[in-house]
Amino acid sequence: MIQLFYLCGIIHTIGDNMNLKEIYGINTFSRKVMKERLPKDVYDKLIQTIENGAVLDISIAGTVAQAIKEWTLEKGATHYTHWFQPLSRGTAEKHDSFLSPETLNNGEAIIKFTKNELIQAEPDASSFPSGGMRSTFEARGYTVWDPTSPVFIIENGVSKTLCIPSIFTSYTGDALDKKTPLLRSNKALNISTKKLLKLLGHETKRIHSTLGAEQEYFLIYKEYYQMRPDLRLTGRTLIGRESPRGQKLEDHYFGTIRTDVLDFMVDLEKEAYKISIPITTRHNEVAPSQFELAPIFENVNIANDKNKLLMEMMPRIARRHGFEVLLHEKPFKAVNGSGKHNNYSIMTSEGRNLFDIGNNYDEQLEFLLFVCVMLKGVYKRAELLRASVAIPGNDFRLGANEAPPGIISVFLGSTITDILDNIAKGDHGDAKTDDVFVSLGLDQLPHVKLDNSDRNRTSPFAFTGNKFEFRAVGSSQSLGFPNAFINTIMSEAMDEVSEILSKHLNGDKNLAILDTIKEIYPQIKPIVFNGNNYSEDWVNEAVKRGLPNISTAYDALQVLIKDENKQLFEKYNVLTSKELTARYTIDMDHLSSLLEIEANTLIYMINNGIIPSVLRYFNDSGLFNERMSIAVVDKLRDELIELFSNLKNSTDDLKDLLTQFQKMDDVHAAKFGTYELRSKMEEIRAYSDALEGHIPEDIWPYPTYIDILHSAD
Ligand code: ADP
Ligand code: MG
Repeated sequence: MIQLFYLCGIIHTIGDNMNLKEIYGINTFSRKVMKERLPKDVYDKLIQTIENGAVLDISIAGTVAQAIKEWTLEKGATHYTHWFQPLSRGTAEKHDSFLSPETLNNGEAIIKFTKNELIQAEPDASSFPSGGMRSTFEARGYTVWDPTSPVFIIENGVSKTLCIPSIFTSYTGDALDKKTPLLRSNKALNISTKKLLKLLGHETKRIHSTLGAEQEYFLIYKEYYQMRPDLRLTGRTLIGRESPRGQKLEDHYFGTIRTDVLDFMVDLEKEAYKISIPITTRHNEVAPSQFELAPIFENVNIANDKNKLLMEMMPRIARRHGFEVLLHEKPFKAVNGSGKHNNYSIMTSEGRNLFDIGNNYDEQLEFLLFVCVMLKGVYKRAELLRASVAIPGNDFRLGANEAPPGIISVFLGSTITDILDNIAKGDHGDAKTDDVFVSLGLDQLPHVKLDNSDRNRTSPFAFTGNKFEFRAVGSSQSLGFPNAFINTIMSEAMDEVSEILSKHLNGDKNLAILDTIKEIYPQIKPIVFNGNNYSEDWVNEAVKRGLPNISTAYDALQVLIKDENKQLFEKYNVLTSKELTARYTIDMDHLSSLLEIEANTLIYMINNGIIPSVLRYFNDSGLFNERMSIAVVDKLRDELIELFSNLKNSTDDLKDLLTQFQKMDDVHAAKFGTYELRSKMEEIRAYSDALEGHIPEDIWPYPTYIDILHSAD
C-alpha cells in the first residue's frame, strides 16, 4: 500500500514537471553531443582516451574546444571554469567570462575559448591547502582538464557556467587534489588486474573500478537550522536533549515520503538529470528527518565527480524549499548517523563484472579467486581502509547507532564462506568431476544473488551479490580517497595472488585456482565475519583475531605516515611519500581546527544562551522565592542549582583546556582535542541536556530535538 502510494507520487510529479527523456543530460557535453559535433576522427581519438586511457592527442584539443564553445554558447552560458577537488573540503571553481580582451578594441563582444583555455588554467591557488608541498615562492598551482569526465553546464540562479572537470597540481607536479590519486589508482588497478586476468587466459583492453554511492542526509527546516549556532558552525548539534520518541517506533524507514520533502527531491533530481547524474532511488531512512538517494553506478572517477556535484547541489536546492541539508555523519545524538555506502566492483571494458558469481564452473572459480583477492587486500591493509574513512564526524558514528564499528571485517555470507572453507580443507582431487563440484558446495553459488535479502547490515565491508559495499564511508566525505585506497590495496593483492597462481599453474587452470585458494584462504580467513558487528562479543573476538580496532580519526590518520603504507602508495604510483605526508598534515590541521571551533561554539552557546536562560528561569519561576520553601520544591531547587553550577564549572574547565590546546602544534592539539576537549564537551552536554529537561520551551534559547526532528510528524 505504502509502496503504491510512493510510486504514484513519483509518476505524478515527474509527469507534471519534467519529461525524463528530454531533460536527461541536456546540460552535459555527452557522447551523443560529441558524436554530433565532432569530426569522426577527432571523436574516435577522444573516445580512445575516455575508454582506454590512451594519452590525449593534443592536436585534437583545438577542435574539441571549438565544439564545446559553440555548444555552450547555444545553451546561453556566459562563463567557464575549471572545476576541481582541492584537499580542503568541497570543490573549487573560479569563473572566467568568455569575453576576450579584444572586446575592448572592437567594441563588440569577442568570444574566446580555445584549446589553451580548455586544457589548463592557473587559478590563484595560494590559499588552497598543500600541506607544505608548495612554498610561497612556487605557490603556483595548475588545473588540467580531465577528458575522461564530461564537461557540463551548471545552472545556479540565473547563471549558467561551463564546468571543466580538472585535476589540480603544483608547479612541480605534486597532486594537490583528491581526483589525481583516484585516476592514478585506476591506472595501477588496470595493470595489476590485467596481469591476473592474463594468467587466467583472458585478454581485455582495460579494466576500471565501478562505484555506486548511496548518499544519506538529514533534511530540516531552515528556521530551526538558523537558530542553532552549532549546526551552522560545526554541522552537528553539540547540545540537545534526546526526543522522547527518537527513532523508537522505527516507523520512518521506507515510510511515505512527506510532500514537502518529495518536492525537494524532485527538484534536486531534475537538476541532477540535466547534468547526467542518474539518481534512481529515494527513500526515508531510519532516523526521523533522514533520507537517502542513490544513483546508478558508473566508472569510479565519474561517479566520484557526480557525488561531489550532488553534495554541492543538495544544500542549494534545499534552501529553495525552506530546508537545510545536513551532510554531517552524526548531526544528532542518539539517532542514526549518516553514511555513504560505497558500492564497489571491478569491470572489464567488455562488460565483465569480476565480482559477478558467473554462470558456469570456470567462471565461478574465477569469481572465488577474485573474492580472495579482495579478502587478501582488506586483511593486509585493514588499517589503511580505516584511515580512508578517518574524518572527524565518523568518530561519533562508527560503532554508534546502526553504524559499523571501527573494526574492518568482511561479510561474505554463509554460502561463499562454506565453499571457501571446503576448498581450504578439502581434497578436491583432479577437480573435474561433478562430485567435486557438489562436494565443494559450488552448486550452491548461483543462489547467492537471490540470498541478498538476509545479508548482514552490520558489516563495514559486505559482499552484496555482485559487488562489495564499504559502509564505513562518511556522508560528508569525498569518495576520492576511499576508492583510491581500495584500488591501491586491490592492485597489491592482485599482484600477490598472480604470483601464487603462477606457482600453481602448470596444467589445469581450475586446479591451479583451487590450489591458490587453498593456499591463501586460511591465512586471510580472520577478516571474514558474518555475525553481528554491533555486538560487544565481536570487539573481543576481533582482538583475538588480531584485527585493528581504531576508534578515532586522530588514531586512524597516524596509519598514513607508516613507512609500509608510504611504500605501498609509492610502489603503485598513487601518492608519493611527500604527497601522503602532505595529506596527513592537512588532515591534522583540519581536525585540530574543527575541534577548536566545536569547543568555542559550545562555550558560546552555554555562556550566551543557556546560562542567561537558566538565570531567567530561576528569576521568573519563583523557585527562589522564600515562600516557596516546601520540601519538594527545595529538592528541585537543589537539583537545579547543582546542575547549573556543574554546567558553569565544566564550561570554565573547557576554557582552561582550550588555553592549553592553543599552545600546541596541530598534531598534539588534534590528539588533545580528540580525547580531552571532547570528553569535557560531553560532560557539559550532559548537564545542559539535563537542564533542558526542566526549563520551559519558551525560555530555552535553542530549538529542541522535538522541534527539529519531529516538526512534520
Ligand atoms: P541497496 O539494497 O544496498 O540499496 P542496490 O542494489 O539498490 O542496493 O544498489 C545500491 C547501489 O549499488 C546502486 O548505486 C547501484 O547502482 C550500485 N551497484 C550495483 N551494481 C554495482 C556494481 N557492479 N558496481 C558498483 N556499484 C554497483
Ligand atoms: Mg546499501
